[in-house]
Amino acid sequence: MVDENGRRIANNLILNTALHDFYAAADEMHLDEGLIQILSYPERRVDVSVPVTLDDGSVKVFQGFRVQHSTALGPSKGGIRYAMDVSGQECEGLAMLMTWKCSLAGIPYGGGKGGICCDPTHMSRNEKERMSRTYGARIAPIIGRWSDVPAPDMYTGGQEMVWIMDTICKMLGHFEPAMLTGKPIDYWGAPGRVEATGRGLAACAFEFMRIKGFDPAKMTAAVQGFGNVGSYAAKILSEAGVKIVAISDTTGAYYNPNGINIAKAFEYMNTEPGKRGRKLTGFEKEGCEKIPGDEIIGVKCDIFCPCAAQGVLNQDTADKLKAKYVFEGANSPTTPEAEDILNDKGVILVPDFLANAGGVIGSYFEWAQNLQGFTWTEEEYNNRLVKLMKDNFCKVWDFAEAKKVTMRRSAYMAAIKRVSDIVELRGVYL
Ligand code: NAD
Repeated sequence: MVDENGRRIANNLILNTALHDFYAAADEMHLDEGLIQILSYPERRVDVSVPVTLDDGSVKVFQGFRVQHSTALGPSKGGIRYAMDVSGQECEGLAMLMTWKCSLAGIPYGGGKGGICCDPTHMSRNEKERMSRTYGARIAPIIGRWSDVPAPDMYTGGQEMVWIMDTICKMLGHFEPAMLTGKPIDYWGAPGRVEATGRGLAACAFEFMRIKGFDPAKMTAAVQGFGNVGSYAAKILSEAGVKIVAISDTTGAYYNPNGINIAKAFEYMNTEPGKRGRKLTGFEKEGCEKIPGDEIIGVKCDIFCPCAAQGVLNQDTADKLKAKYVFEGANSPTTPEAEDILNDKGVILVPDFLANAGGVIGSYFEWAQNLQGFTWTEEEYNNRLVKLMKDNFCKVWDFAEAKKVTMRRSAYMAAIKRVSDIVELRGVYL
């Protein structure tokens, strides 16, 4: 569907937001309309059916997708998610965001995304294995180290990557570890990857404090979501002296104005994980006040890190935010309406595809090591990651200051410029 100007309109919120942000930045850059048209569509979208024999012997057919938005800069890169709201349009929007994230990060990738519309929380391990292997086989023709390199995303992890890779390697008849990333460390994965996104977010925050002359030991932060991104962001910030006054997960928010012992929160979450499902349930016993989960947005602090779900900062919640600085760990945690409210309040917001790029940069390091057949030390991995994140932060910060635009607009413009320059250089026949 297109509007009267020939611009795409989507039914899906993620794709619509991605298109809205892209068109706004592209227009501000006076990007050629032909380039705008090219970049508003994915290069390739493959829809696959995924028949699975369930444990009760019946057969269920799931819908799967793999989208390559752009391969202008290199192989497309992006996760595979298993969730009920996965659709072709959602994957198109997320793949487009991956193009900008990889471009901004300065890594040699385009953007991709894939997934299966399913409820993995109600599937057995065997059912998930059969589903992952069939999906892998059906997207195999377009996956490869120099074409499209998937990774884990929501409700997928190292295990799913191993099933998919093992299936495709058997089809190929040879080993191909660089075809996807996010593998377990002992199976061609990379030491440092687990902490990479949280470490990258913290690196952005430290660079910001350095530029502003803020002492980390005098700063306070609240971190929403205590999963892979939020827990390590909180840990690394607190180790540098930042006082974490609130953390949260789906069980609620835990508040202590004197600072939460994050090492203890890790220990607590990992104790009896089977019983609590790696959740913070009951953590108020460790000297915190338990408050409703959404109230973490209104907690008094300097920095707010949404590291959980999309759309948490919206027109109903944005006014409640007390923090002056937002570092987006989650993808799309702020709606466009909320961003207008935050801009009016003078909040500085560091956008998702800059702040959470540590994950894909870490994936790039894993891929590079796999291609070399050589493993870096964790120290080398972390040092390279932090340097890239800080350099990228400064690039976006300097441009935003010079052009008097928001960090999100600045990040978009830098990311689009790198891709559109190469599309122009390579020509329309891609
Ligand atoms: P995760 O599943 O490991 O953790 C998510 C956490 O958020 C859990 O603690 C969960 O309980 C909590 N949560 C979910 N909904 C919540 C809500 N409404 N309020 C409070 N807490 C809530 O996921 P993750 O890997 O940490 O990813 C979090 C976000 O970051 C997602 O948007 C993801 O797309 C994005 N992201 C992740 C990575 C990565 O490397 N893991 C990289 C880039 C972006």
